[in-house]
Amino acid sequence: MKPAPFAYAKARSLEDAIAQLAAHHGEAKLLAGGQSLIATLNMRLSSPSLLVDINGVAGLDGISVRDGMVEIGALARHVALERSADIARHAPLIALAMPHIAHPAIRNRGTIGGSLAYADPAAELPACLVALDGEIGIIGTNGKRSVQAADFFKGLFETALGPHDVLSAVRFAAATAETRLGFAELARRHGDYALVGLAASAKASGKGLGDVRLVYFGVGPTPVRARKAEAALAAGSVDEAVRALDLDPGDDIQATGAVKKHLAGVLLRRVAKQLTEPRA
Ligand SMILES: Cc1cc2nc3c(=O)[nH]c(=O)nc-3n(C[C@H](O)[C@H](O)[C@H](O)COP(=O)(O)OP(=O)(O)OC[C@H]3O[C@@H](n4cnc5c(N)ncnc54)[C@H](O)[C@@H]3O)c2cc1C
Repeated sequence: MKPAPFAYAKARSLEDAIAQLAAHHGEAKLLAGGQSLIATLNMRLSSPSLLVDINGVAGLDGISVRDGMVEIGALARHVALERSADIARHAPLIALAMPHIAHPAIRNRGTIGGSLAYADPAAELPACLVALDGEIGIIGTNGKRSVQAADFFKGLFETALGPHDVLSAVRFAAATAETRLGFAELARRHGDYALVGLAASAKASGKGLGDVRLVYFGVGPTPVRARKAEAALAAGSVDEAVRALDLDPGDDIQATGAVKKHLAGVLLRRVAKQLTEPRA
């Protein structure tokens, strides 16, 4: 299939991109890496009248670590995160997730902003951002605002972004010596979207763990925190955490809900082990 006809404009700046979105009253879409958008156009799941290409907007692809915070610009490509020494050191959860995202050709073009804005329920980065308690910077016709990652993902492919908004950057606390992180996923083939995945963070607290965040993907319309399992893990029992897993995945084309729930328990055991290991 071919896409429905659309116009194309190259944004000169963030302000220009927002103005073009606003001028088209919700009929325009931003183009970042194009790795999801172009497929939806080709399948005619989406038929915007205009694509606003933000790839030429300067200053949107930075990766910085300042005052204990990591900031990643929306146009940072997956490959840049995968190869960044700053990400490996200060955002190891993102580094752990990267090799699971699609294939090198897709990681060469796909961007963190595009991945979060698209909000595929089986994508890795939305769950990582929730596990890191990150915040998402948005700029639109009403100025700048920040939304906590936990509030950003509203439903299936639905986010807090309005039709005239640009996701500009993400921010989260840099890892410290106490930070513990874990990541695991199961997919039919390496690089496929996950059947079930788990991104986790915690703080070492004495011999145990505090602030445990277990964020599953592929088990619901948005990233899902398993709060009862988090409490059980913080109390020191992996078996109890698996028994307490408060997830209710539905059936999908990949697996039944019951299989997904079982796999979620398998992943929890793997990730619990990672969480107890100090960072190298
Ligand atoms: C074969 C294949 C396999 C894949 N497997 C995986 C996988 O396993 N895991 C995974 O997470 N992803 C996977 N992806 C998706 C890919 O990794 C990209 O993250 C994803 O395509 C979105 O990034 P993008 O920059 O290409 O966004 P685009 O395709 O350009 O845009 C996606 C959507 O986000 C909007 N958008 C883009 N940037 C912004 C912004 N800054 N502000 C507001 N809205 C914006 C666009 O308007 C569009 O609606 C796969 C893609 C393909 C083609």
